[in-house]
Amino acid sequence: MHKLREPRVFVPLLLLLVLALFPILLPDSTYEESVLIACFLLAIMASGWNLISGLAGYVSLGHSVYLGIGMYTGAILSKAWGIEPMYLMPLGGVFAALVAIGVGAIVLRSRSHAFVIITIAVLWSVQLLAQVAKPITGGADGIVVPPPAWAKELGNIPYYYMFFAVLLLTILLAWFVMNSRLGAGLVAIRNDEGKAASIGINTTLYKITAYALSAIPFGVAGALYGQYLSFVNPIGAFGILTSVILVLAALVGGRGTLWGPVIGGFIIALANEFATVSAGGVSARVLIMGIVLILVVMFLPAGLLPTISAAIKRRREKGDTVKFIDQTAIANSRTEVDTSAISTRMSTTSKVENILEVRDVVKTFGGVRAVDGVSLTVERGTITGLIGPNGSGKTTLFNCMTGTFTPTSGTVLLDGENITKDRVWTRAHEGLGRTFQITRLFKSMTVLDNLVAPLEKTSAKQMVAGRYSGEEVDRAREILDFMGLSQFEKQNAAALSFGQQKLVELAQVLMLRPSIILLDEPASGINPTLIEKLANVIRRLNEAGTTVLIVEHNIPLVLSLCSKVHVLAAGQVLTSGTPEEIRNDPLVIEAYLGPDHLLEAPSV
Ligand code: ADP
Ligand code: MG
Repeated sequence: MHKLREPRVFVPLLLLLVLALFPILLPDSTYEESVLIACFLLAIMASGWNLISGLAGYVSLGHSVYLGIGMYTGAILSKAWGIEPMYLMPLGGVFAALVAIGVGAIVLRSRSHAFVIITIAVLWSVQLLAQVAKPITGGADGIVVPPPAWAKELGNIPYYYMFFAVLLLTILLAWFVMNSRLGAGLVAIRNDEGKAASIGINTTLYKITAYALSAIPFGVAGALYGQYLSFVNPIGAFGILTSVILVLAALVGGRGTLWGPVIGGFIIALANEFATVSAGGVSARVLIMGIVLILVVMFLPAGLLPTISAAIKRRREKGDTVKFIDQTAIANSRTEVDTSAISTRMSTTSKVENILEVRDVVKTFGGVRAVDGVSLTVERGTITGLIGPNGSGKTTLFNCMTGTFTPTSGTVLLDGENITKDRVWTRAHEGLGRTFQITRLFKSMTVLDNLVAPLEKTSAKQMVAGRYSGEEVDRAREILDFMGLSQFEKQNAAALSFGQQKLVELAQVLMLRPSIILLDEPASGINPTLIEKLANVIRRLNEAGTTVLIVEHNIPLVLSLCSKVHVLAAGQVLTSGTPEEIRNDPLVIEAYLGPDHLLEAPSV
């Protein structure tokens, strides 16, 4: 209950209360009610849109198609069944969601600009469909919807409360999604979709779910809106301007936030009304919206709400000194933590000796054979090295192992199972973890949020579970402790140094309880004091049962850690052997190590 005292909680609740009482406090204000209904509708649409476009970052410019689908669902079924469309609101939502699942499964394969354009194409296609399917939709003439049965004196008040209720439900839905693991996964997808997949997030399922959920408020409101207008036709139901205005509303308020799209909906609907009434009709309205859009993009790219809350935060933090982060504290942190936090999922006594094996893997990019027939094995329980000059295909081979790329030909086996065609997140679920040469943390999230993002499996139960409801947070803290990163828990990932980010990325992968971790140049670009720490962490992980495959240019580090090393050159395995054999192999010396190869291994 103490939360009620916080402005960000009680201010919106108070405003909603005022809106709930408005028709009672100010009777006979039909005009004001109709303006507020327009505000509600726009806020509903902006909040719904926010689920796919604000959270997951897939900007839809044709989302009003689902309002139209709700309008037609209400109108058509009302005619067929002889009931008022407003009773069909739930069906409008269901139907919009079903269409969205079908459409989403196709359009969500595209990204960024292509996605935006395809969503507009969908809107226009459905509009055309409504025009030509005359027997069902009445064609261009549309469908006349019966007026409501309630007493005339009530005016728009029942509509007012119904739209208001839909708005409340939409806000509730948005709140629920944002506080679930689904919401966290969507934000991860917005940050970096490939990375999200690599930590076990089923990005296809998450995106389609968000897209379908985002259509529901449109469909529900649409069935009601059709009756409110008393008329449904293709131009009115599937207008592109509605889509543009609702996007503008979400942008003005602040996409990705709970209240931003609601506030934006009110602001834009009021501006819209003002322009239509006072400034001379439709063309003035378009002009004003255009100017608002330009101003927002130029001066308020994050939207009103995020900009204001950032300013408040800055003011609050003005007095606080910036925390100095002590590198040696990380270097000296304990690594003898109980190993349950870093345990692996797979039994270490599997029959198959080689936990990972690639056979004849080829990966070409146009004419470049980046990986040119590589066969190698990684024995269970070892730390195995993969070295080779820049451009020799090490990262590409990692990408073939993890599923980022499908090999042009060849096979990848994990624990004896052929995983060549498995999706990236499936491989993560099966125990394959990786870090990236250039770290790919979710920059808009804190370190702790980065750690709780990985998913060990996909399940509906998990998607609806609260963001911090499980044991993940405890385990994340244990792992941060193990890595000596506890002090960064609340820091934004983007605020860390490159080396610190590398360690956090390793910690993040450990949340998957991987049986094998692929490390892509973990020591490059990190502070020398951290390298020793890193080597210790890798050894401890290995002792706890994790197999490690490490790509690294720090040859002394590789030779001291690994029991076996594969050397790549020009996409092919040059040789494989023990560190001793590699160090003395004339081929390797010539191709890679050069005259400096006799560097002594550091005493770690
Ligand atoms: P390494 O990690 O050993 O430095 P890479 O696997 O990154 O090497 O690159 C091997 C070769 O493949 C290089 O010639 C590189 O230019 C090429 N390559 C890697 N990724 C791509 C890609 N996505 N598209 C085209 N060429 C690529
Ligand atoms: Mg590389």
